[in-house]
Amino acid sequence: MIHFKRCFILITILSCLLAQGVSAQQRDPLPVPDLPGLRTLKCDFHMHTVFSDGDVWPVTRVQEAWREGLDAISITDHAGYNPHKDDVRPDLTRPHAIAAALAAQLGIILVPGVEVMKGDTHFNILFVKDQNAFFGLDLPDALREARKQGGFTFWNHPGWKQPADWFPDVAAIYDQKLMDGVELVNGHTYYPQAFPWIEARKLTILANSDVHSPTYPSYTDRRRPLTLVFARTADLEGIREALIARRTAAWMGGEVWGAEELLRGLWQGSVAVETPRLTFSPSQRQLSLRLVNRAALPFQLRLREAPKWLSAGGADIKPEGAAAVTVRLAKEAPQGESTAELQYEVTNFHAAPGQNLVVRVPLRIVNP
Ligand SMILES: [Zn+2]
Ligand SMILES: [Zn+2]
Repeated sequence: MIHFKRCFILITILSCLLAQGVSAQQRDPLPVPDLPGLRTLKCDFHMHTVFSDGDVWPVTRVQEAWREGLDAISITDHAGYNPHKDDVRPDLTRPHAIAAALAAQLGIILVPGVEVMKGDTHFNILFVKDQNAFFGLDLPDALREARKQGGFTFWNHPGWKQPADWFPDVAAIYDQKLMDGVELVNGHTYYPQAFPWIEARKLTILANSDVHSPTYPSYTDRRRPLTLVFARTADLEGIREALIARRTAAWMGGEVWGAEELLRGLWQGSVAVETPRLTFSPSQRQLSLRLVNRAALPFQLRLREAPKWLSAGGADIKPEGAAAVTVRLAKEAPQGESTAELQYEVTNFHAAPGQNLVVRVPLRIVNP
């Protein structure tokens, strides 16, 4: 009897181990719609590993990206700040090289990158050919080297340690055409001071995690800030073309920042009106308008305009959720079937400072 019990325990342990061996990792689908003719890629172009001041090995960054539903990442260790150098040789070509095989297996696009700095002014350079060429260079020289290597450059965390301002050293870099973009969001922080620069100085919007520890628990809800890249092709060249063409949006938590036509494309691809035809009756003057959201993006709607004879509420449409908006028909509504339009402000979609996306919901109203 004792022998049988031991045997049973052994079999249980073995089957547990076997189950672990073949257990699958789960990927968050993180649905964000493509735009007409463009793929929407979910990207994080700023993160660290033990090769600079991060806590993780490069393959961990690929595993995290895959689990969290990302399409592309860049490992951007510091050239010149390498506190683990006694344990890890600071060869900055290695993080990318180490991560490349797993990235290829999992279909994660890996963009070669590096972070360069002078004092508190930090820049990331993407599409670099040799990360080690940046050691020992002053910031403007590093950005000139970036140009030689065909790199895309952006200013990181513009309000780190002091409120964001168009600092003289940054202005000089911009005037020498050494700056392509700016992080509107870095980690958990949004820099409102930087938003007006996007249009005024034709910069590319970026939102990145700058994560140093494992993404969990740095982001407990598994939602790090992301740069949405609207690319013609889902590959390195597609990302580069889209970044230069400024076809990006910043997404952090419930907020999205980007050019109006890109935000409108996200709305159109995400939200469908399930009940575009509302049939009222003399006894039923109030109906529900159902809006369904297929995306992982939330949409907060505030009514701006409606016909005088129609009133409607706002809505908070959760990610991959639906909302029912109450629509009331007034006594003076036209008889028969007519068209009407509700105009909503999407209060969490920011097209420019002080200007949110405005969308139209067309309806057929039947008033017998
Ligand atoms: Zn930095
Ligand atoms: Zn960094």
